[in-house]
Amino acid sequence: MKNQVLVSDIQKFAANDGPGFRTLVFLKGCPLQCTWCHNPETKASTPEIYWKSRLCVQCGACLEVCPNNAILPPTPPHVARSKDSTYHKIVRDRCDGCMACVDACQYDALTVAGKSITVDEILDEVEKDRPFYNNSGGGLTLSGGEPTFHADFAMQILKSAKERGIHVCLDTNGFCEWEVLRKMVETVDIVLFDLKHMDSAIHKQYTGVGNEKILDNLRRLLEIGADTWVRIPVIPGFNDSKAFHECASEFLSNIKGQISRVDLLPFHNWCQDKYRWLGIDWALKDTEAIEPSFLEIPADIYREKGLVTTVGGSGFENTGSAVGW
Ligand code: SF4
Ligand code: SF4
Repeated sequence: MKNQVLVSDIQKFAANDGPGFRTLVFLKGCPLQCTWCHNPETKASTPEIYWKSRLCVQCGACLEVCPNNAILPPTPPHVARSKDSTYHKIVRDRCDGCMACVDACQYDALTVAGKSITVDEILDEVEKDRPFYNNSGGGLTLSGGEPTFHADFAMQILKSAKERGIHVCLDTNGFCEWEVLRKMVETVDIVLFDLKHMDSAIHKQYTGVGNEKILDNLRRLLEIGADTWVRIPVIPGFNDSKAFHECASEFLSNIKGQISRVDLLPFHNWCQDKYRWLGIDWALKDTEAIEPSFLEIPADIYREKGLVTTVGGSGFENTGSAVGW
């Protein structure tokens, strides 16, 4: 088993990804390619370069060191930085990821998304937040990308966290072999399980894969009694219709077993910068965020069918968590 994995970020004090305050560990690499992905840097399982045009002074130092002619020559900074600029500094399909340009940049305009890190390094970082877990009922949430994509390594993280007495959530898109998920579930306290669309053809069109395996894994999770929070990212033009919510709530209320709660997660576009830094023209960049209060009406569709439902997925709702401050 490899002893390091690529982590794109370790985020502190998250309040919407499991009970209480949590430390989110984002593993890099995902078998799905969701159009709306809020963490585009976690899709690929290799390090990627962020280029931040605002910080770039167009000095050309990166150009000098690139062995693959993958960096375009300097252009006047006001052109590169202008709001409507389509200037991309890096020709990504020529880049082999040597990172010589990142080392050469003195202005932090080039950085790397994805850092190789060991299980102990991850857990040592997570441990720093233990006082916040103790006060809020929080812990570690292993996310991505997709944790099951790195099954052996993810298991090591989960086991080590449990050995240290840390509450653990697994945030998964559910697209994996059942045996992989079953083994992980034995180790975690709560599974945060994404549900995206009930129609497999539409699911495939927007994520790259059908939903059969995902729905089957959800059924199996509930059959074995896993504490499961179903999370539905609500995306304009994809699954924001009344028909979708009626279909999804019908499915979830009739599934055998007890779903602990359903979280409707409103689409937002705060990740636009990350797409820009990666040189990706994001199809949803001009799509307006959904005002969370608008989701209270669809949330009632789920509630009417007996499903505990939140908008936004706060870790301080319906969890019984003690928040003393
Ligand atoms: S070295 Fe950094 S600041 Fe200079 S041109 Fe390259 S990215 Fe821009
Ligand atoms: S990572 Fe290497 S190949 Fe890619 S643009 Fe930078 S210097 Fe060139």
